[in-house]
Amino acid sequence: MLLELRDVERVYRVGGEDVRALDGIDLALEAGEFVAVTGPSGAGKSTLLHILGALDTPNSGSVRFDGDEIGSLGDRAQSQFRLHRVGFVFQFFNLLPTLTAWENVAVPRLLGGQSLASARPAATRLLESVGLGDRAEHRPAELSGGQMQRVAVARALMMDPPVVLADEPTGNLDSKTGREILDLLGALAKDSEKPRLVVIVTHDRAAAARADRRVTLVDGKVRADTRSADAMIAEAAR
Ligand code: ADP
Ligand code: MG
Repeated sequence: MLLELRDVERVYRVGGEDVRALDGIDLALEAGEFVAVTGPSGAGKSTLLHILGALDTPNSGSVRFDGDEIGSLGDRAQSQFRLHRVGFVFQFFNLLPTLTAWENVAVPRLLGGQSLASARPAATRLLESVGLGDRAEHRPAELSGGQMQRVAVARALMMDPPVVLADEPTGNLDSKTGREILDLLGALAKDSEKPRLVVIVTHDRAAAARADRRVTLVDGKVRADTRSADAMIAEAAR
């Protein structure tokens, strides 16, 4: 199992009261799966995604990546884990406005201690793979929303991570552009050379319907966990 959560709890203490953002989550996620996490606002979706990507630490319970406990890593080990194992895509793209598209894609390499210039060929190839080969020198303000999100997807792939996590990746896109981004994310899970685990948070039903598996959270608990018919057939054939 690539990522496995057991009885994960995340409690925030606000004004003397406990808010149980995650309340006993058990979840096993495998490479090759395209998973949509859905549920009402405040259900704990973003908190879950942050814990899957070691952006946050549970108060109790276990988070294992490839069998190793990551829920209790120190800060340094946590940031190394994030850099090499996880690609993040956000609702508001989170691109650096003064950098060009290819420079934005190359940023994770800088964090890994390399120069921008040395990362340029790989960054350019990734931009080509998301259909933006001709926009490499554009800055974010010179790109459409869909193009910015493609740059963000390319950046998420820069360190070739086995896990890609996206929080409301289509939240600021029109529905057609949103579908294109979902298809791009779904294809990352199905990459024949390197199947990845792709988890998106979405409250868009149409978006969730495109995933193999839908995990519904309510009040910090898993209310439902269903697989699409296609995913069940593929599994039976394995
Ligand atoms: P969702 O993404 O499903 O809308 P979140 O995971 O953001 O939900 O939040 C789950 C619950 O935890 C909510 O009740 C929210 O108010 C609370 N929460 C989230 N982050 C914090 C925080 N940093 N401090 C206090 N409470 C928080
Ligand atoms: Mg959220």
